[in-house]
Amino acid sequence: MRRALIVGGGISGLSAAYELAKAGIPSTIVERRPRLGGVIQTDHAEGCVLEAGPDSFLAAKPWALELIRELGLGGDIIGSNDHLRVTYVVKGGKLTPLPDGLMLMIPTRIWPMVATRLLSWPTKIRMGREWLRRPPKEPLPDRSVAEFIREHYGQETVDYLAEPLLAGVYGGDPNRLSAASVLTRIVELEAKYGSLTRGVLAQRKRAAQAARSMPLFQTLKGGLGQLTAALERAAADHLEVIHGDAGPLELVPGGYKLPVNGEWIETRNVVLACQAHEAGGLAAGIAPELAQLLNGVEYSSSMVVTLGYGKRELGHPLNGFGFLVPKRERRRLVACTWVGTKFSFRVPEQLALLRCFLGGADDSALALSDEEILAALGEELRDLMGVTARPAFHRISRWPRSMAQYTVGHAARIARIEELVQQMPGLHLAGNAYHGIGIPDCVRMGRQAARQI
Ligand SMILES: Cc1cc2nc3c(=O)[nH]c(=O)nc-3n(C[C@H](O)[C@H](O)[C@H](O)COP(=O)(O)OP(=O)(O)OC[C@H]3O[C@@H](n4cnc5c(N)ncnc54)[C@H](O)[C@@H]3O)c2cc1C
Repeated sequence: MRRALIVGGGISGLSAAYELAKAGIPSTIVERRPRLGGVIQTDHAEGCVLEAGPDSFLAAKPWALELIRELGLGGDIIGSNDHLRVTYVVKGGKLTPLPDGLMLMIPTRIWPMVATRLLSWPTKIRMGREWLRRPPKEPLPDRSVAEFIREHYGQETVDYLAEPLLAGVYGGDPNRLSAASVLTRIVELEAKYGSLTRGVLAQRKRAAQAARSMPLFQTLKGGLGQLTAALERAAADHLEVIHGDAGPLELVPGGYKLPVNGEWIETRNVVLACQAHEAGGLAAGIAPELAQLLNGVEYSSSMVVTLGYGKRELGHPLNGFGFLVPKRERRRLVACTWVGTKFSFRVPEQLALLRCFLGGADDSALALSDEEILAALGEELRDLMGVTARPAFHRISRWPRSMAQYTVGHAARIARIEELVQQMPGLHLAGNAYHGIGIPDCVRMGRQAARQI
């Protein structure tokens, strides 16, 4: 019987395998794809570093950085070029800069809000009046992000700030996402101050100090594939990798067994480091309620299309990190990152790289052919940025049902899932469905599962 088997070789599963290897415990990763890394995949073309999935992580969450330093890659960490950070939002078909002084979607400075073309006067006046809100008398139940933001700042703020900002992170619908799980700290401010603006301002000093000392995003010079490759190398002496589909778990005395490539594998511990709907399928025969709850975690699909141009042919100054497209503006594009501005070392001087996101709550784009996608993007980039040149090269990556959605009631659902997992000795969960969608949280949960073993 094996000591530990991990289903899923993404960053969560690899972090678990690494932590086990550090303790001298052998493990086996079962991964369906022919490579490890999950949605993290770095390619290279024409001297560019191309990220097919995530391109960076939030610097404020320390777990990915700690791991990177531990792996000896500290010298390759780079930060986003925050001195060049301007994010645009499409309004009426035009790129409009986000006003200065926004903390996520909370306004903290008067004049940039007064001057912005992104919001109408009634919304601006409503934003000013929000200052007068008093704390609620009793704790409020979980609400959708849309309800929560609408209550404080009105529908236009949902449409032109909350929706596009969150679509870029979760690919989700603010009418379904849980305010308590997605905007946890902001909901806490409501409980304490009533007004979110007053709450953010009261904490601004601390936040400003932290922001000055750290870039917003961090990554590795050679791309995030450096991290997954280093994890694989560091765990290699204690790691076996089997490429294939893990099948449903069954109980055996002292552990579990599951079929992989037509053979049964027995293990004392199993870490389900795959999407919750996959974990639900694997647990269906041994824990039906757990399986049902796991299957109930919603996922959105996304697509990353990277387009490479000669800089001179592009005909648009890349004077910012890129732009977000609110759903109200009805485009295929959800967001577009201007890679060479956001990060150094990614694009040679003479080239320009546009990283386009599609998908999200409406995942119909994933069914389109490559030609249809390129044609649709060509049209939209011409309208929004005036780009008429054809890209010199491109990469298209589809990620179906890859991004967990923390919908209303998420915290209660996960608490019950964890209660049920406690009743199954040797069973562990890790991944983006539980306590954080980003890479740092996945690292933390993978390592935590291993420590329990
Ligand atoms: C396009 C995109 C952009 C993102 N951008 C960012 C970003 O910039 N910053 C950030 O912090 N986060 C970002 N995220 C989120 C973050 O990348 C993911 O949440 C995280 O990488 C998920 O890692 P994971 O190991 O939990 O899951 P995955 O990477 O999805 O890995 C799970 C693995 O399990 C395998 N698997 C599933 N079922 C089975 C089975 N039955 N048998 C065998 N194998 C199985 C799958 O093949 C997969 O490889 C992004 C995500 C996407 C999709």
